Amino acid sequence: MSFNFKLNNKIGRARTGVITTPHGEIKTPAFIPVGTKATVKSALPESITELGAQAVLSNAYHLYLQPGPETIDAAGGLSKFMNWNGPTFTDSGGFQVMSLGAGFKKVIDMQGDSPNADDLITDRKERLAEVDEEGVTFKSHLDGSIHRFTPEISMQVQHQIGADIIFAFDELTTLYHDKKYQEESLERTRRWALRCLDEHEKLTQERHHRPYQALFGVLQGAHYEDLRKRAAKDLGNMESSGRSFDGFGIGGAIEKARLGEIVSWVVDELPEEKPRHLLGIGEPADLFAGVENGADTFDCVAPTREARTSAVYSRTGRFNVSGGSYRKDFSPIDNECSCYTCQNYSRAYINHLFRAKEILGPTLATIHNVYFIVELVANMRNAIDAGNFAEYKADFLSRYKNEVN
Ligand SMILES: [Zn+2]
Repeated sequence: MSFNFKLNNKIGRARTGVITTPHGEIKTPAFIPVGTKATVKSALPESITELGAQAVLSNAYHLYLQPGPETIDAAGGLSKFMNWNGPTFTDSGGFQVMSLGAGFKKVIDMQGDSPNADDLITDRKERLAEVDEEGVTFKSHLDGSIHRFTPEISMQVQHQIGADIIFAFDELTTLYHDKKYQEESLERTRRWALRCLDEHEKLTQERHHRPYQALFGVLQGAHYEDLRKRAAKDLGNMESSGRSFDGFGIGGAIEKARLGEIVSWVVDELPEEKPRHLLGIGEPADLFAGVENGADTFDCVAPTREARTSAVYSRTGRFNVSGGSYRKDFSPIDNECSCYTCQNYSRAYINHLFRAKEILGPTLATIHNVYFIVELVANMRNAIDAGNFAEYKADFLSRYKNEVN
């Protein structure tokens, strides 16, 4: 077994450490860029390595539908298939089968949009995923074909894909489910976690010629302190087929304003010596809240998705580089940034690329945005080691405005 987590320094709940996987190390805290379909959209893997990213996270749901897990297995696993020379993660597919598949994407939007009654009604009518005790039946968002994920199938798919860190299959709830449903769902996710451990152990034995894969349990419970703590206690102490979880994912519906508080609830119940991944979080203020409260790794599509719409990060906040005011602005996106894009290209040039719909625009913006977020979390790591995390946080957030200009 070649998975290990070593803790280095701690300030309050914030901590630094090193995750060791068969494909290399991850110094934590770390931001893990998302490569949904085994590619960080628009960028070469070499560029993603050079900008400092230590690992990438792909989606089991997308890779299951296309190209199919057997293809990736035949290629020798995700890292070989996509030519990523480092650790990889896959999520369980739970989020996607119940969001993309379910057609209620707007309801689980965690950007703080207020619920819209029309959306809820429409989405319920179009709901394409059904949850039962055994698993979830869903329609492919690609061609409408019917598929089924169970905890066992998710483990089989993730073993075939072969990422270093994989996640247990969980049920995603939304903030609009009532507490009774959240409790039932949490209990179902607990039973599914046991089935994941059993299937994972079976597959690990069967596929002993493959590199060791670490399994993280996923903690749900929305914004309820008792449910979140119960999930952390249940999965933190869970053992089945002689196995326990190698780490934990903090998932599900999270009110952004209470992010830090929610992370602190579960962190206080989890075993100290195992890593914690905060799923789907990547905005600067949220990353500070996550790190401060004891999360070790993070993934989010935001830096890459925003880059493709020309929204870029700077020390003072995000802005839209395709805006008219940047047409003749020959300064870099961020004059304090050391990324390849900022060292070589101007706002005016990138503005032109986006307006002319040139493919290089999203590529350069992606390199900058991913660098910016990866470096931000690396700076937090250095600040914890240096003992000045609170000062770094206050300094960064005093300048950064979380809005697109
Ligand atoms: Zn840059």
